Amino acid sequence: MKQAIYPGSFDPITMGHLNIIMRSSKIFEKIIVAVLRNPQKQPMFTLEERVEMIRHSIEGIPNIEVESFSGLLVKFLEQKKASIIIKGLRAISDFDFEFQMALMNRKLDSEIETIFLMTEDRYAFLSSSKVKEIYLLGGNAKGLVPDYVELCLRKKSGNQPEFLAGQDVEKE
Ligand code: ADP
Repeated sequence: MKQAIYPGSFDPITMGHLNIIMRSSKIFEKIIVAVLRNPQKQPMFTLEERVEMIRHSIEGIPNIEVESFSGLLVKFLEQKKASIIIKGLRAISDFDFEFQMALMNRKLDSEIETIFLMTEDRYAFLSSSKVKEIYLLGGNAKGLVPDYVELCLRKKSGNQPEFLAGQDVEKE
């Protein structure tokens, strides 16, 4: 059975991610969306919240599972007996990073193939970090994230004003 892993931070999931999930679910029998627990990064949403928002967004699509992982992606693939990684590609700036990652994963396990799907043009400039920035500045990103995620973003940025001085925004 051909299954593929779609890894990322998904902090939070956007319509760009969802578009890649939908399209890859038509190519593979099963997609596992793998949410990274990355202790080096300070996410806006906890791992549990990120997983829950994805589950909510993919409701009704039968061949998709959501799991979390930490550490090396190749180890996670091994555990799942999977050898295919799905990645979405936006601008040229994604390419260099993803190219290095794909080659490194291949070095760690020669059986691994990374498959890239081009973003749809309407999502080409969409990223989780931009979406967060919009909410921290008091805007909204309706149509760029699933409705449920929009609600979560409003709640999170409104309920926790300390995010207004959040690191994510300051870094950029
Ligand atoms: P981000 O870069 O938005 O923080 P992630 O680390 O969660 O996102 O990315 C997971 C995967 O989804 C990566 O392969 C990334 O290139 C892809 N991706 C993110 N946003 C989009 C988009 N708008 N269109 C297509 N692919 C995307």
